Amino acid sequence: MQLPSRDLPFEVPKYSLTGDVLSFQRCGLQYRYYNRSSLPPSRPVQLWTGEFVHGVMEEAFLYWQLHQPSFPWPCNQTPWGEFLKPTDRCDYDLGVLGDRVETRLRASGKTPRNKNARDAAYRRVEAAMTLLAPDLFPLITAVEEKLSSTRSMPIANSRGDRYELTGIVDVISSVSLATHQNNPLVQMINSQIPGLSGQFDVIVDYKAARRPPMTPPQNVKPYWQHEAWQVQTYAWLRAQQPNRNPVKAGILIYVNELSPSQSDLNDLKTEISEGQTDVQPSSGSADYYALNTWQTGQGLSTPNFTINFLRQRAVRIVSVGDIEINQAVAQIDEVISQIERCALQENAKGHIPNHWNADGGAGDCDACDFRRFCPSPAQRRQPGKQPRPLQPPIAPG
Ligand code: SF4
Repeated sequence: MQLPSRDLPFEVPKYSLTGDVLSFQRCGLQYRYYNRSSLPPSRPVQLWTGEFVHGVMEEAFLYWQLHQPSFPWPCNQTPWGEFLKPTDRCDYDLGVLGDRVETRLRASGKTPRNKNARDAAYRRVEAAMTLLAPDLFPLITAVEEKLSSTRSMPIANSRGDRYELTGIVDVISSVSLATHQNNPLVQMINSQIPGLSGQFDVIVDYKAARRPPMTPPQNVKPYWQHEAWQVQTYAWLRAQQPNRNPVKAGILIYVNELSPSQSDLNDLKTEISEGQTDVQPSSGSADYYALNTWQTGQGLSTPNFTINFLRQRAVRIVSVGDIEINQAVAQIDEVISQIERCALQENAKGHIPNHWNADGGAGDCDACDFRRFCPSPAQRRQPGKQPRPLQPPIAPG
């Protein structure tokens, strides 16, 4: 008697919205080496800031949910180079929450680039907790929510006829226009997406980055569009789950805008002069005066912007109607088909660089481990050329 052999296990190809889709959109070849070969970055510091900001905001919300201490919270960070010591700081001191997150990151080999990068991350988290958390936290119903669903594989002759799309949403907020009408975040949603009514969910995503330009300069990727598609696709993923409120808006929070660095401010000035940004101080306002009298230079302070201007720069409302969601998931399908096509060609020909686009934008190549042998145009990697850094690498999640 012949025993039947068991079929090989069939796996549905799985793609993460951040780890695969956004990484491939950043640079195809870099994605191939880091994500599909599981090569760790030689400088994991690149991931530290994003994961630190996400981690502290989550720790802070979980503490607030249980104890609800009033805002603002103290921030006494452990001095640079010192490890956890007994202190008299309170449980919700952002320095204490930060220590906890830093310990976790250190255990996975992630440390800040230097003292300035660490100080900036603490400054930004403190600003987010002071300027946004009092309005955001009361709306939150879930944090770090994992979402997944399957979609038809967009190309033929691939590894399957469906693929699984996954994502982790930083925050889900439940909004009722009747009860939250005085909340400034809800007012921003209401003013930018007319016609909303009743109860609905909002997807919130923290970005440890500055607000990208709407029309990017040459050699800078269209992060503005990519990030909107990300939130709109989260909305599609959530709509696949049963018994959910409809998602009617997304909020992207650009944490760097709450405490901008000198290079952030120089980029802002350039974007204003070239008409590339959607939020700028109105002519003659205190913020306009502060920005235009500000001088760049070591040791000089940054302008004293009004809280309203900082919030307007930091908070971006994304519309997530049916049309936008359909357009976004079509774009995600297109990225998946490109990745599958590259993988099939590499598999057939056995050569990596010829089949994955080496198309990193400004800032990506500087920090890339593969630039020494990358076939991208040589001028991108000239030693003296300083493309402006725009976005840090993507933190998982
Ligand atoms: S050097 Fe630039 S183009 Fe080449 S792989 Fe790295 S990010 Fe991509």
